[in-house]
Amino acid sequence: MTSKARAARREGPRIRREKVTVAHMILVYCRGMHQEAEKRNSIGGEIQSSRPLLCDECYALYEYSQKRLTYCRFGEEKTTCANCPVHCYAPQEREEIKQVMRYAGARMLFKHPWLAFRHLLDGRHRNSS
Ligand code: SF4
Ligand SMILES: [Zn+2]
Repeated sequence: MTSKARAARREGPRIRREKVTVAHMILVYCRGMHQEAEKRNSIGGEIQSSRPLLCDECYALYEYSQKRLTYCRFGEEKTTCANCPVHCYAPQEREEIKQVMRYAGARMLFKHPWLAFRHLLDGRHRNSS
């Protein structure tokens, strides 16, 4: 079995929920901050939205963040990435995702209150592996 297949098998509801939350956050950010950019990358498989399209830049960050979650060393026992003491992101992507969270964090409360609430609770969990 490949490492990717092994990681996918390990993936439980906690990781899947964070993947969906992060995907929504990036979509909110892209819609708000990159209004003029061409949106040609669909993330429709990950989230439910009428037009789940991202610009190239946001799509690269989306793919990166999903991959980090797939291979997260804490798996189902993780806290949110924002609260993680390890933070496995490379410096540039880390800065980008911080910007996304800063912009999308409060907006998520109105657009996806349940996901935002769960994210808040997940953030109170401490990493253990
Ligand atoms: S930042 Fe921390 S919690 Fe998020 S994927 Fe990386 S190791 Fe896991
Ligand atoms: Zn964008």
